[in-house]
Amino acid sequence: MGAASGKTIDTGFVEEIRGALRGAIDLILPYRCAVCGRVSDTEDRFDSYNSLYMELYGQSPDLHICGKCLSSLNIQDEDRRWFLCLSNPVSGDPCPGLALYMPFEYKGLVELVIPKIKFGKKYELARFFGCVLGSALQGENISADLVVPVPLSKKRLEERGFNQAGEIAFPVAKLNGIPYADDCLIRIKETMRQSDITDKGMRAVNVSNAFRVSDDWDVTGLNVVVIDDVATTGSTLHEAALALYKAGASKVLCAAFAGNRSLKNAEPF
Ligand SMILES: [Zn+2]
Repeated sequence: MGAASGKTIDTGFVEEIRGALRGAIDLILPYRCAVCGRVSDTEDRFDSYNSLYMELYGQSPDLHICGKCLSSLNIQDEDRRWFLCLSNPVSGDPCPGLALYMPFEYKGLVELVIPKIKFGKKYELARFFGCVLGSALQGENISADLVVPVPLSKKRLEERGFNQAGEIAFPVAKLNGIPYADDCLIRIKETMRQSDITDKGMRAVNVSNAFRVSDDWDVTGLNVVVIDDVATTGSTLHEAALALYKAGASKVLCAAFAGNRSLKNAEPF
């Protein structure tokens, strides 16, 4: 009994010390990395991001990523950022040659962060990625009339509370001066998570006819950029593009923050 209560006191005491230490460290180095959780001393690297975020959202981002994590975020060389949307092109493709802009590889920091965004509900990280993607796209001088995110189903949106593709797409639109529409595409089919399906063919079947353009939008003759967080087989973005073409869009481009391809094989227009 005595030993047990002694243990309780010890644990509480240790926690107290730990808490006090954490508080002291936070006072000196107040920034904790949103990716690895370590206390960060590199907040000054975020000055330009902070003001950009302020401009876009009217508040401070309250997001810090340490120098070590940031340094593992390596953008692809400029001539290696455009891909064919479908990693495995099919014959009779209704939107052949569909181009996908994807400036990061799915590894390192990106591999760590994407699950944090989706399942840890870290929309701030999605916005950060959106700002990075948007800044990269600025160099491409694309001309488009509308930026739309790949939509979640109503059910999944309610579960997660936000659409990560939308959080990425919004800053992309703003930074490139293109109108943003988060309600243009609608997911009309409840699909399985693409990441839960390993077979390429099954991924295509899973998202087949999953989207349509909302009756509130007329995309006839418009150039539209569709945005998702990650592209693997490209099936999801391809289906979203198909829905836009069916509704009369003139040209569709796809963009994703990251993927696992390395071969440049497409041109934007
Ligand atoms: Zn870190």
